[in-house]
Amino acid sequence: MLIHFASGNAHKVAELQLLADAAHAPVRIVSARDVGGMPPVVEDAGTFVGNARKKALALRAKLPADAWTLADDSGLCVDALDGGPGVESAYYAGPQGDSAANLAKLVTVMRDVPPERRRAHFTCVLLLAGPDGRELMCEGRCEGRLLVAPRGGQGFGYDPLFVPDGHEQSFAELGETVKNVISHRARAWAKFVAARPWAT
Ligand code: IMP
Repeated sequence: MLIHFASGNAHKVAELQLLADAAHAPVRIVSARDVGGMPPVVEDAGTFVGNARKKALALRAKLPADAWTLADDSGLCVDALDGGPGVESAYYAGPQGDSAANLAKLVTVMRDVPPERRRAHFTCVLLLAGPDGRELMCEGRCEGRLLVAPRGGQGFGYDPLFVPDGHEQSFAELGETVKNVISHRARAWAKFVAARPWAT
């Protein structure tokens, strides 16, 4: 099954292809770049599913009618912030999308929140769009808690502040090997593979 991934991010395409190969999924994932680039999409649907659908359908609209496209949307949802920054995770500190500034803002906003109110989870939605309006939506979550101060130098985004359940170290301390097994993205992808969309 040939899948066009609705993003120009080569790292994400490579990561998904690795996960597909590891699961022996008969899937080849190619970047939107290979078909002239991702059309501009305003991510204003207000939900992870809505934003992922917008991206998948925008790319599909420029491909042949039998094409399959896949999009993802993800973010950090903090209980004490009523699920924020959520779909705004990439732009929490402003439209420039500065991840160090986003992390610094979250540290400040959460500074006086006591340990028992520091629950948070990462969410990832994968949305596959195909012919005749066919769709597969898979959601993965990784539950955990927020530290008071960032720890660790690996990963990206909010990783230094997030400690997944069952661990004492942050995502940025645990590193890729652990993260690739328990992350929101890995869990969404596991559901995708279990649904076997290539077999339908
Ligand atoms: P996107 O869906 O890849 O654009 O991610 C949206 C935003 O959510 C990113 O810019 C990060 O701020 C945050 N985010 C998503 N996944 C992760 C993760 O695994 N670690 C840290 N931050 C993440």
